[in-house]
Amino acid sequence: MAPTAGARAFNAGELDALLQALRAEGWTLAGPRIRDGAIVYDEIGGAAELPAGWTDEQAPGRYRLRERDDRALFGYAVGPHAWKKYLFPPSERLWTAVRSGRDVGVSEEQAEPPPLAFIGVRACELAAIAVQDRVFLGGERADASYRRRRENVLIVAVQCGEAGGNCFCVSMGTGPAAASGYDIALTELVSGGHRFHARAGSERGARLLSRIETRAATGDDEEAVRALLARAGGRMGRTLDTRGLPQLLQANLEHRRWDEVAGRCLACSNCTLACPTCFCSAQEDVPDLAHARSERWRRWDSCFTGDFSYLHGGSVRASIRSRYRQWLTHKLSAWHEQFGSCGCVGCGRCITWCPVGIDLTEDVAAIRSGAGAAQQERREQDT
Ligand code: SF4
Ligand code: SF4
Repeated sequence: MAPTAGARAFNAGELDALLQALRAEGWTLAGPRIRDGAIVYDEIGGAAELPAGWTDEQAPGRYRLRERDDRALFGYAVGPHAWKKYLFPPSERLWTAVRSGRDVGVSEEQAEPPPLAFIGVRACELAAIAVQDRVFLGGERADASYRRRRENVLIVAVQCGEAGGNCFCVSMGTGPAAASGYDIALTELVSGGHRFHARAGSERGARLLSRIETRAATGDDEEAVRALLARAGGRMGRTLDTRGLPQLLQANLEHRRWDEVAGRCLACSNCTLACPTCFCSAQEDVPDLAHARSERWRRWDSCFTGDFSYLHGGSVRASIRSRYRQWLTHKLSAWHEQFGSCGCVGCGRCITWCPVGIDLTEDVAAIRSGAGAAQQERREQDT
């Protein structure tokens, strides 16, 4: 078949050469690897540490690894980690104040983060990074720490060939194809010879691809990529009807579904910590005992905790009902006004990692159909 202009292809064995080329340029590699029974993002040294031959099975409140019958390196959906742990770390020092006599000197954190190459970023995760870019870099005052980290990142995306049981990126228009925001977009093709289709999204991506042994992608390669993406897109575990969603939620702030969910929600905050777009944080001052030095730290927080909305005299959102409603209406409704897009990219992590399997797609469907009210009435009749 005739080669396709621009796109390249290479044998799977050549992936390590790409990773080593990145390391030779000074990039630290962060990518998927197996740890504690899950596929997590961590520092990797090369392709040998990728989760070859493993996939994940996901359902509400459930995650299991399972062996595949091939040696696919990226044959899973997404794990519990999001890339935000690198761009917006769970805890970081913002500044240090040191007292010397009657003077106090304040020094902001200025350390340059190490250059990081993200390996295996999914399409929904590219969308999530774009969402957090708007949150941290948009507006009048950009977040200096986020900007330093973001400017030091190179992205190798890998388009999904499998859809997880809780994925709904098709509903959110964020996947499974990687649209933008990457340096290189790979697609792993296993049948017909284990190989990768590669598309450069930036000049440095193109330069990197030129450093390994590739060939021009053929029409067969392109057709295989199209078929793979169509298959993944057709097998989403979940769907979310987004028509008029912001208005729907705002019109149903007293819907009985909120009570029904509150009866199950543990307010554990797992969903917000696993979510790739949630960005709430708290700041803490940590003085030493001699009052000579104090540090300010920023830590991930969650709208599910009572403390998060604590104002003078008490918490604004005292009930779990009000916290869950705040989370969902912010994500799917108010986020549009605040940041110009939806706050959900359809990755399904909040469903998988919720210990009681609360599923936002079910909640929205129930509110849309009135099923929440019907369920509540049934419960009341049963008691
Ligand atoms: S709300 Fe849930 S599905 Fe949406 S981006 Fe966050 S974790 Fe993923
Ligand atoms: S929805 Fe689930 S994960 Fe989120 S706070 Fe409630 S119980 Fe925890």
